[in-house]
Amino acid sequence: MDASSTPLLQLQNVSKRFVKSLDAAARIANLLGARAKEEVVHAVDDVDLLIQRGEVVGLVGESGCGKSTLGRMAVGLHSLSSGTRRWKGEEIDRMAPSERRKKQLGIQMIFQDPYASLNPRMRVLDIVGEAPVAHGMIPGREQSAYVEGLLQRVGLDPAVLRRFPHQFSGGQRARVGIARALAVQPEFLVCDEAVAALDVSIQAQVLNLFIKLRDELNLTYLFISHDLGVVRHLSDRVVIMYLGRVVESARAEEVFARANHPYTQALLASAPKLEVRKTEFFAVKGEIPSPLNPPPGCHFHPRCPHAMPRCSVEKPALKEIAPAHFSACHLNDQR
Ligand code: SF4
Repeated sequence: MDASSTPLLQLQNVSKRFVKSLDAAARIANLLGARAKEEVVHAVDDVDLLIQRGEVVGLVGESGCGKSTLGRMAVGLHSLSSGTRRWKGEEIDRMAPSERRKKQLGIQMIFQDPYASLNPRMRVLDIVGEAPVAHGMIPGREQSAYVEGLLQRVGLDPAVLRRFPHQFSGGQRARVGIARALAVQPEFLVCDEAVAALDVSIQAQVLNLFIKLRDELNLTYLFISHDLGVVRHLSDRVVIMYLGRVVESARAEEVFARANHPYTQALLASAPKLEVRKTEFFAVKGEIPSPLNPPPGCHFHPRCPHAMPRCSVEKPALKEIAPAHFSACHLNDQR
């Protein structure tokens, strides 16, 4: 495989489980014969995701489907419970720490709430300029000029260099967050609901900034959103997740014109925004499947209008049903 065909990022069979340990009361109760067990949340379950250089991949799903966890696994903020993460073909998590830190700079994350992710006691100069100096990318004496250039690139006046985060509007703070991510010259950005907290008019401006930066800097994006309108506007390819699994993946226009999976069809029918509450999926144990209690077969089984007996016991494999269009549904075996 030559360098041009090697995926920029490849997640292979990755899973993430969070274990909630027993508290002291439960441990004491167990000593007295109770059978309390640790709770295991299967946030991401055996997912493959391959992203080519220059692609914009939209990752869509309801709250609690595991998309943010998958994004954090892609960046390296969450370790993998199983599976492998390859960056330009190399297994990054097996590298020596110093080498890994260096490679890791190529993958940066932009968070949903820029106010929460910016240190309120730091000036923009330090928020944006600290990492490139610390990593030896620029000498300290060039920090101001470097940060001024980044602020201009994201559409901010360089004169705001010495301001604190609270002195900006929401849209400006989002731009500061983007400048901070760009400061270490990444090739790949994971944007986790990066415009969700903004007014609609500001959202459009920031989305256009993402498109401009992609063209100018040859960036690759994993754009995580519950908003299909945002994903449609930006993405080359769309990946749909449900309860920790990828259920469908295809070119954006293909997904919106010919959705195959019953869950994707339900999502599109509920557009423009998916407002299903997290509690519906996380808090209820029993008949409604949740990452706390994943059923053995298709995770969409009890809610799917086309469910068959095999759906409750057999996990549907992600199959290519048309060129570059993948779907995980037993109905595809009958067509
Ligand atoms: Fe529905 Fe079965 Fe397909 Fe799952 S595998 S989406 S339950 S038809």
